[in-house]
Amino acid sequence: MTDPVPFLDLTAQFGALEAEWLAAIRETGAKGSFILGPNVADFEREFAEYVGVKHAIGVANGTDSLILSLRALGIGPGDEVITTPYTFFASSEAIDVVGATPVFADIDPASFTLDPKSVAERVTDRTRAIVPVHIFGHPCDMSALGEIARRHKLAVIEDCAQSFGATVGGRVVGSMGDAGSFSFYPTKVLGCYGDGGMITTNSDAVNEHVRRLRNHGAVKPFIHVEVGCNSRLDEIQAALLRIKLRRVRADIDGRRGVARAYDRRLAGTALVVPATAAGAEHAYNLYTVRIPRGRDAARQALADAGIPTALCYPQGLHLQEVYRRLDYRPGSLPVCERLTEENLSLPIYPGMPERHIDRVCEALTRALA
Ligand SMILES: *Cc1c(COP(=O)(O)O)cnc(C)c1O
Repeated sequence: MTDPVPFLDLTAQFGALEAEWLAAIRETGAKGSFILGPNVADFEREFAEYVGVKHAIGVANGTDSLILSLRALGIGPGDEVITTPYTFFASSEAIDVVGATPVFADIDPASFTLDPKSVAERVTDRTRAIVPVHIFGHPCDMSALGEIARRHKLAVIEDCAQSFGATVGGRVVGSMGDAGSFSFYPTKVLGCYGDGGMITTNSDAVNEHVRRLRNHGAVKPFIHVEVGCNSRLDEIQAALLRIKLRRVRADIDGRRGVARAYDRRLAGTALVVPATAAGAEHAYNLYTVRIPRGRDAARQALADAGIPTALCYPQGLHLQEVYRRLDYRPGSLPVCERLTEENLSLPIYPGMPERHIDRVCEALTRALA
């Protein structure tokens, strides 16, 4: 293929940011402030402002942001935490890492996000928290989940790893729970050139606790009040993220533009384009369609035409080998299991060339005819 269609192309954007980032790195070097320096502090303030929260705390990656949020909210051994089986493993892995038990609820077939009715059915007297995941960039039904949380006094930790900038009812994700958890893994909507993560919260107590946990449980140099860890956002990544945050609205608009083109071109075929709930704005970290019949053949036809796709996700977490001890069975969460057979994620990124969108749509339309 002379003109390969990438699933995601990070190189064009690097070219556009390179000079500005390198200048910021040189400035950091000249100051000699490499850990928890001015870039991290400034980025935390700018990030909190964007999301509309009181505090933002930079950490080493998105997985740690979930772990430290759970710890700061007091979730631990003996506790149950309800989450979705239709997500990247880190969402539930973090619950295990703090010693709690993940409890999987089923999902809504239109948005791929947690079904509040299924969540309500799984609340027990050991349930302490809900981890809604705004999967692919589609916000969860936060008003229904918030209502369940209030009724049963549960903490809510939003997993916003794939949904930076998505909104529901005019509120930005990461501002609606007790804590919001973000990843800056390079493929995310706001990605850096390495690992990074952020926790958002309106709670002064959570803010203070997370700041302590990310830095060895220290309240001041060499004075430790608890066992924490080393999980800090890197100063050089924070310098890049400050630059990218200033342009992120255009990036999200670019993703939405590709999604609108796909929606328009693929309507009327045998596939189901992603829906957006009323009052919500999708961030399209991924553009995931459902192909009720013949998904694997369509995927092969696209591969033969030089078009990469991804299966997000090929298996519900409840059926993964690691969770055999939790005793779920095929059929336990039927909507999730059906969608694992039907999903197909298409190439999408800001600046994706029109001719590549054309090729994806033509190959897919042909495969489904
Ligand atoms: C990427 C991702 C994470 C983990 O983020 P890392 O920065 O890779 O640790 C957590 N949850 C979801 C839904 C993700 O997509």
